[in-house]
Amino acid sequence: MRQARPRKWLRPVLKPLRPAFREVLAMSLFVNLLALAAPVFVLQVYDRVVFFAGLTTLQGLVIGMAIALLFDFVLRQARSRMLQRVALRIDVEVGRKLFDKLFALPLRALESKPSAYWQALFRDIEVVRNVFSGASAILLTDLPFALVFVSFIFVIALPIAWLLIIVLPLFLLLAWRSAAVLGPASAEERNAGFARDALVAEMIAGRATAKALALGDSLRPAWEDRHAETIERALTRGGRADSYVNLGTMLTVFTTVLLTSVGALAIIDQRLSIGALIATNMLAGRIISPFQQLVSMWRNYATARQAIARLGEMFAADEDRRDSEIELDRPQGDLRLENVSFRYAEDAAPVIEGVKLHIKPGGLHAVVGPNGSGKTTLLKLINGLYPPTTGRALLDGADIAQFTRKELARWIGYAPQEAFLFAGSIRDNIAKGRPEATDQEIMTAAAAAGLHQHVIDLPDGYATEVGEAGMRLSGGLRQRIVIARALIGRPPILLLDEPSANLDRQAEEALAKTLSTLARDHTIIMVSHSPVLLSVCNNVLALDKGKVVMAGPADEVLLRLFPGRVLEPVREGGQA
Ligand code: ADP
Repeated sequence: MRQARPRKWLRPVLKPLRPAFREVLAMSLFVNLLALAAPVFVLQVYDRVVFFAGLTTLQGLVIGMAIALLFDFVLRQARSRMLQRVALRIDVEVGRKLFDKLFALPLRALESKPSAYWQALFRDIEVVRNVFSGASAILLTDLPFALVFVSFIFVIALPIAWLLIIVLPLFLLLAWRSAAVLGPASAEERNAGFARDALVAEMIAGRATAKALALGDSLRPAWEDRHAETIERALTRGGRADSYVNLGTMLTVFTTVLLTSVGALAIIDQRLSIGALIATNMLAGRIISPFQQLVSMWRNYATARQAIARLGEMFAADEDRRDSEIELDRPQGDLRLENVSFRYAEDAAPVIEGVKLHIKPGGLHAVVGPNGSGKTTLLKLINGLYPPTTGRALLDGADIAQFTRKELARWIGYAPQEAFLFAGSIRDNIAKGRPEATDQEIMTAAAAAGLHQHVIDLPDGYATEVGEAGMRLSGGLRQRIVIARALIGRPPILLLDEPSANLDRQAEEALAKTLSTLARDHTIIMVSHSPVLLSVCNNVLALDKGKVVMAGPADEVLLRLFPGRVLEPVREGGQA
């Protein structure tokens, strides 16, 4: 019953494929019926042709056999093609579903698992696809035909047919035992591989730091531990699998010996013909081989079951709102936090506590406070990236919980602290959230972010490739691109997290001017300690340990926070 929910998602994916599966089953029926042709041929050749020198019979049989083989080939080809189509459909459908779901999950859910986990989910699609369309699917369709073959043996070789009734349950027992043992073993193997991959991903992401600190020696024990664990789990699983496969092989040979010996006695007693014995041996091979494969294939089924359950768990997870209740026009930019508190984990201390805040449209507002006081978290709460644990965040009087991520992204420009770029050109990166942006809009945003002049100085201009995660650009340029990205589309609200952290003095002053101009018709909230930026702010909010300790007009608050310090004004751009 516990499994019912994780598998539910699969039904709508498989439902449209039912006709295809039915066709595969029908083709399997004929393939398996044609499989009777070879034993019948052998039976006839031994019992009729050889004993009675019936050359015309042989001729007829060979022609019949050739036709059967041709049909068999055509049917198998058609079945493979059909299964390929099924594979394609599953790949496309599940891939799309997973991608959409990934983007619909709340940020907290995405942050709660390492990136290797999310990558592994995409590999799970392949596992699911293979089990429904690969060799394991064919095996499943072939299995029921064992009954047909057994019945046929009862017809042609009654005196030895009963032996199969004894042997087949032994194979089933073997497959069942191997399932019970290999399922958990392959889950352990996967988890071990997963822990190793997570470490590798982290080492690669931090390769510059790892290299600079010469972390090779200190990371090696952790790596070797996890690598060894993965190998050990693989060996354990492989060892167990091998013993079941070998037992299966032994049982197969044993069946041949058993059938032949008992068959020989029956032939001596003249209750069986030599042809019937040979045909039975061939058929028994046909019956047993899927059962034997079942032992080795079981790992695929067990892995697929786990993959389906993992995907199911993800598909069942709560997601961000996808449809909006009301259509709000471009908001004015009136922001209100009503007694907002937030904690990262249920048992953790609140990072934001009882924050009440009202920001009227327009103006430049700074959030200051010591490291870890919750400034970044506060911006993410205003942006709707995290839902408040208690309290509400309101945009133009409406709870932002009712808006979709797309709407919020359109209305709120956000430049996070870490200036993350996607591989591609500078232009692509600025227009990432709005691919429809015109060149003019892109250049205006770039100019406002103090980026345009730098970009046109580059040999490739806006087409310059930024490299993986923007690695090829300087920190300052990356930051300007991220600010330009937040500005594009002129969202009424701008949230900037330490926007000048990587900027030189000149750029900082230019940014201060830009922001004070933008603040005339934008609500701008920024986290910053830069005296240059603070000097153009209208209001300042001071946070400490998640609580607002001071808030009000910039001059007053800054004077109280930093008594005696003179902030250098940058006023040429005109302050709002
Ligand atoms: P600030 O921006 O003022 O430096 P943050 O909002 O980044 O502060 O962090 C506030 C507190 O929340 C810190 O104690 C930090 O450790 C914690 N924190 C931040 N992000 C996370 C996260 N993703 N998971 C758990 N704790 C977090």
